[in-house]
Amino acid sequence: MKLKPVKGTHSIRLGDSHASVSSPFKSKDALAAAIAHQTSRIATLQRVLYADARFALLIVLQGRDASGKDGTIRRVFAAVNPQGCSVTSFGEPTGLELGHDYLWRVHQQVPARRMIGIFNRSHYEDVLVPQVHRTITRDVCMSRYDEINDFERMLSSNSVVILKFMLHVSRAEQKHRLEERLSDRDKNWKFRAGDLEDRARWTAFTRAYRGMLKHTSTKSAPWYVVPADDHAVRDWLIARQIADTLKSLRLRYPPADPSVVGLKVV
Ligand code: AMP
Ligand code: MG
Repeated sequence: MKLKPVKGTHSIRLGDSHASVSSPFKSKDALAAAIAHQTSRIATLQRVLYADARFALLIVLQGRDASGKDGTIRRVFAAVNPQGCSVTSFGEPTGLELGHDYLWRVHQQVPARRMIGIFNRSHYEDVLVPQVHRTITRDVCMSRYDEINDFERMLSSNSVVILKFMLHVSRAEQKHRLEERLSDRDKNWKFRAGDLEDRARWTAFTRAYRGMLKHTSTKSAPWYVVPADDHAVRDWLIARQIADTLKSLRLRYPPADPSVVGLKVV
């Protein structure tokens, strides 16, 4: 079982049944061990990514409220060195941000070479939210898809490796998680009244997500739809995809500077 990049020409199904897959592991312990193996691969490869200095890795996480973006960041990146990693959460744009084009705040947070940058929500909010709230026209939305594809192509040809994960949660599982946020005192803080308004627009968001996946999954910046009803399977699928992508870059530790070869520490 492996994640496959979304092919732009295909229509993407985002029904409730696509939000879960059964674990290929015999036990929870075996799945936990598989996650630990993948997170440790990421940690090892991150060290070389940093030393190699040719690439940046940008991970985009999108998904509805309670789809598990925060949990993914906590668990998949548990073993990485914080010095080589940045996380940016994109909330509703501030007044300053609204005074600029929608990619302005995003571009500033794109990781530099050597770094892993994680986006908790992203520029994709700017095609999802306004589409659902009908504050942009279809033409503007189509232009934004093109602009985003151009932006990501530019990043990619400037050494930013991009992976985009859409965490797909079912309606029933989201209900369960939102209810937990209401009843569990330690989770109350995560609940916003707006979460219910967005939940009420379930179908409109599904349509917007499908459009986004269809128009913005490209060779240089593919989308992966992650069945996200089960935390552990989600973490394993994402961690493996990230580790495999880092591995495919053939990262290497740079050779010693000729001027230091043969020097002795006294
Ligand atoms: P959370 O991720 O739960 O902290 O919530 C952040 C909220 O900000 C979500 O409801 C997002 O939809 C919203 N948001 C993020 N970026 C934008 C944007 N560019 N335009 C409108 N709403 C946004
Ligand atoms: Mg939220």
